Amino acid sequence: MIKLHDKFFKPYIKEEEILAAIAKMAKEIAADYKDETPLFVGVLNGAFMFVADFLKAYQYPCEVSFVRLSSYQGLTSTGIVETLLDVPDEIEGKSVIILEDVVDTGRTLKELVHLFSNTNVKEFKIGTLFYKSDVYNGEYAIDYVGLEIPDHFIVGYGLDYNELGRNLREVYQLNQTDMINLVLFGKPGAGKGTQAGFLKEKYNLKHISTGDVFRYNIKNGTELGNLAKSYIDKGDLVPDEVTIDMLKDEVEKSPEAAGFIFDGFPRTAAQAEALDNFLESKDMKINATIALEAEDDVLVARLLERGKSSGRSDDQDESKIRNRFDEYNEKTAPLKAYYEKQGKFHSVNGIGDIDEITERLSKVIDSL
Ligand code: AMP
Repeated sequence: MIKLHDKFFKPYIKEEEILAAIAKMAKEIAADYKDETPLFVGVLNGAFMFVADFLKAYQYPCEVSFVRLSSYQGLTSTGIVETLLDVPDEIEGKSVIILEDVVDTGRTLKELVHLFSNTNVKEFKIGTLFYKSDVYNGEYAIDYVGLEIPDHFIVGYGLDYNELGRNLREVYQLNQTDMINLVLFGKPGAGKGTQAGFLKEKYNLKHISTGDVFRYNIKNGTELGNLAKSYIDKGDLVPDEVTIDMLKDEVEKSPEAAGFIFDGFPRTAAQAEALDNFLESKDMKINATIALEAEDDVLVARLLERGKSSGRSDDQDESKIRNRFDEYNEKTAPLKAYYEKQGKFHSVNGIGDIDEITERLSKVIDSL
């Protein structure tokens, strides 16, 4: 096990395995290009080591160059990618093969394809050393793949965690055993959002509120927001497929999080099962589901009070609030049994001072 910044990583892919995958790629590319002089374009910084070893394995005429992009993750699901080092000059008429260290969601790839679409290359192909097929959006064909891997956060062999780890000869995987992933459970108004705000600071967790993500999208007029709005306005649940995909996207945005607080998710059996399967594929799990308990009448009063200042239309009308409770009783309440069966369900009194309730929740978390 090694430590980079605040996190531990365990060995994952050995150097020999990496070099064998590169040799296989070189052979495949040579079969297609050995009679011409292709231009290999490495994507910095991650691919520098891969490109060096690839060229040693590719013993035919070729040229090499690099591009550099920088990806920023905004609050929305669209990352913005900026070009820091542009396509090489005199690229016209050449066969270009992009060499990426890793393809995951495909966001960077999209930008690369745009970059090269504006040039007069003869053709361009895409090769990647590591390929996370589970999360790839599938927009472009990937022509050459070294190793297909699950969606683990990896470092080493050129890849970094906040710039550390690039010089490791092998690939390491984030050790997830210390992670705490919590589901905050409870009716609308139970205080999930408020308590998540305190717990995320105390335990250094990433808070994901599906309600907040929907409202952010509504405010920004995104396609997702427009779709969700009609359901939210009535106090109905947004359809599962939409919500589940959105939740996965949110988790993907924080690959190095020390853990997550899921607030307002899952709300149906399908969501709970999808969450378990998704986390398992990432070597993660839910540690505890903690319910904040309070009577309906208290909650209605709280929500109407909140509606006066929050501007949330679903908090301003008692019939919409009651509809949200009905949705909860019918679709969400059965999840108690789902988590009880897994031995993960805990219940906490949600009435009292905010500090007091945080204490009650902390007691459960500290006992995990
Ligand atoms: P909240 O802020 O958690 O009370 O959520 C506000 C509204 O967003 C809900 O009434 C639903 O319409 C929608 N919503 C939030 N989370 C989910 C979810 N997990 N599944 C379906 N709809 C959701």
